[in-house]
Amino acid sequence: MSQPMTRNTATPALDYLLSAALPSQRAELADLAAHQGLMWRCVCRTVNTLNTDACSACEKPRPYTKDVTPPRYEYGELLEDLRDRLAEWFDDEPKERRPAAIGFRVTTEYDDGPAWATWDATAYFTDAWIGTPYPKDFERSGVADALVELGDFEQPQVGDTLIVVVPPPFAPERPEEKGLGREYAYGISDYARAAAEALGDGWGADSGYIGAYGLLWGPGGTPELRLYVDDYDDLVLGWKHYPDRETVTIDLPDGAPSLPAELRTVGKAIAKAARTFLP
Ligand SMILES: [Zn+2]
Repeated sequence: MSQPMTRNTATPALDYLLSAALPSQRAELADLAAHQGLMWRCVCRTVNTLNTDACSACEKPRPYTKDVTPPRYEYGELLEDLRDRLAEWFDDEPKERRPAAIGFRVTTEYDDGPAWATWDATAYFTDAWIGTPYPKDFERSGVADALVELGDFEQPQVGDTLIVVVPPPFAPERPEEKGLGREYAYGISDYARAAAEALGDGWGADSGYIGAYGLLWGPGGTPELRLYVDDYDDLVLGWKHYPDRETVTIDLPDGAPSLPAELRTVGKAIAKAARTFLP
């Protein structure tokens, strides 16, 4: 998975500071910024801004911009929690050189099998192609807690690699970084209601549990249909009580509707699909 590292709210302030600095101050300021993870230093020693993925001088790609995890696992939110805890750890240690990534090793020193070790971690810096031993132990920190959570989710195996990209200081909150926090004009139950309207007399619609899906039913209460987003991010219509038995995918060629007319179009498409469930 790739961790976007390009946006950083500190970058404009740093640019301003660099432009205000005297030429004699500039190198020192860039050194300090690279040390803090506010800029990145290439193996050729050039210091680059965080919004570059290749060195401005030698054009080598910026290293350690991607996590490395055991290939059989999808850690998802657990990995993001670990990343947040690492960010906190280094935010609390401004004198310490902030690494681009931290690698963890597997220990077999515990009775209940292999686990991610909080000690003997490896720090990766962008100006070196190999890591260096990280001298501190993360024990009793949020990092340690996050490693335990990962191990509880899936026990690591000896030889597994876990390298986590450390965000820069002042990195935006995660929802914004990931493009979450997006607002949709209509919820899925609105789609179901638009479909009921298109289907006409005797049809009804409602919101499913905490709005996670829409419900649609025909004259006399049947068929009872469920409108939901499946594991492939497709909008599908299926039987309420047997959602996997038979489903029809609803195409959204223009994406999610944001205007009443667009919602009506989607409602008609769902209505067409709903008719295929009639006896
Ligand atoms: Zn370079």
